[in-house]
Amino acid sequence: KDPIHVIGGGLAGSEAAWQIARLGHPVVLHEMRPVRTTEAHRTDGLAELVCSNSFRSDDAANNAVGLLHAELRRLNSLIMASADAHQVPAGGALAVDREGFSAAVSAALAQHPLIEIHREEIAGLPPADWSNVVVATGPLTSPALADAIRTRSGEDSLAFFDAIAPIVHRDSIDMSKAWFQSRYDKVGPGGNGADYINCPLSREQYEAFIAALIAGEKTDFKDWESNTPYFDGCLPIEVMAERGPETLRHGPMKPVGLTNAHNPTVKPYAIVQLRQDNKLGTLYNIVGFQTKLKYGAQTQVLRMIPGLEHAEFARLGGLHRNTFLNSPKLLDAQLRLRAEPRLRFAGQMTGCEGYVESAGIGLLAGLFAAYDALARTIAPPPPTTALGALLNHITGGHIETTDAGPRSFQPMNINFGLFPPLASPPIKKADGTRLRGNEKTIAKKQAMSARALADLNGWIAAHLRVADAA
Ligand code: FAD
Repeated sequence: KDPIHVIGGGLAGSEAAWQIARLGHPVVLHEMRPVRTTEAHRTDGLAELVCSNSFRSDDAANNAVGLLHAELRRLNSLIMASADAHQVPAGGALAVDREGFSAAVSAALAQHPLIEIHREEIAGLPPADWSNVVVATGPLTSPALADAIRTRSGEDSLAFFDAIAPIVHRDSIDMSKAWFQSRYDKVGPGGNGADYINCPLSREQYEAFIAALIAGEKTDFKDWESNTPYFDGCLPIEVMAERGPETLRHGPMKPVGLTNAHNPTVKPYAIVQLRQDNKLGTLYNIVGFQTKLKYGAQTQVLRMIPGLEHAEFARLGGLHRNTFLNSPKLLDAQLRLRAEPRLRFAGQMTGCEGYVESAGIGLLAGLFAAYDALARTIAPPPPTTALGALLNHITGGHIETTDAGPRSFQPMNINFGLFPPLASPPIKKADGTRLRGNEKTIAKKQAMSARALADLNGWIAAHLRVADAA
């Protein structure tokens, strides 16, 4: 049998190799460390955790990443088994002894009879006679391979500052202060002239906001990040504010072409706009608000905006170097490069973010690649599961154009905003009394988690042989 080649032995590549071998197919795993290393890795271990040692919340009933843990465990994930075996106390989070964890993943892969590990950099497109390849080289993909992929995919750039504006849960925005309207009521493709959520600021509120932005604590760039330029049009808001108090009012906060629906006669001094971020309409990003403010300062400053006082963030803003594909455009639903389907992508390169998410997409890429090799078919997991929701975000569920023009695709952690809404959200407790405030949010998350696990079981029963699942 021709082996499947997995390039990159990080979180995604290790999981992909494991899944392929478990299904009985030979794999060659190519990892460039220690021959060549990255700016963030420190060891030659497989699945090295480059920063925090936390896999975040392990609460499957109430938290989307906890749910993803549970789904991965049901699918015999090597990353989860190794994390569970090397857990350190961390409250409700799953944190690991990073060396023990990486050593366990390395040993399991090295000892598997169907896995060969080659320590070498793949410094260009994989050889033409490799017919089934998983590329899982991560956010710090070596430049030679990144350049080859960029040329093959026809994109202008793959490595750039990941310009991330904060993303807010739609149902946490106070619509008694904010309103829906597109600038100049412009109707774009698929829009109705009311595509944005607008938050008005008075002069006093604007000045206080600018002062807080300038005073807020910022994250420093690491040395290796300082060579990569800012993308045009993606300056952090605090950098713009430092250029002069009026800069933002002439940039992302300009108050023109909009009328406050709650107070039409008073012209706002500045306006913050939020744009729909997912097809479901459950998430909105703050337009032009990429920021390097530290998370604590960022939450405080953003909640000064009228309408966002109680905002819940699906992700906070940030800037760091990252290599990822414009996946909704370039990949098919099975993570294959449309232009060259023998190449399948996995991990953070595909536009997920985080250790667990990278492992999750690695698991799916491994299953899809092995099923191809075994000439068996498999449908993607339903979008109601955490794995399916993440895959849908990467390959299809994202809005590519709005009436403001093409929107750039940004990596994202798993969160409940990526799941389709419940057909009938819970409104009552078990004793028949009505749920109030936060109880509703908790009950909704729990119902989404229960739905996910039931649907994952259905998918396993329909698509995986008994021996393939846990
Ligand atoms: P990696 O785990 O990076 O694996 C890619 C592997 O491919 C590496 O081992 C690399 O050596 C190898 N490789 C690269 N190019 C080649 C090549 N040409 N040939 C052969 N091998 C190659 N996520 C979190 O959840 N928590 C965090 O705290 C966190 N901190 C981060 C800090 C930094 C600086 C960065 C860049 C990312 C961070 N992330 C974090 C995001 C992300 O979850 C991790 O980067 C994660 O490791 C991604 O998994 P991956 O498998 O896609 O890539």
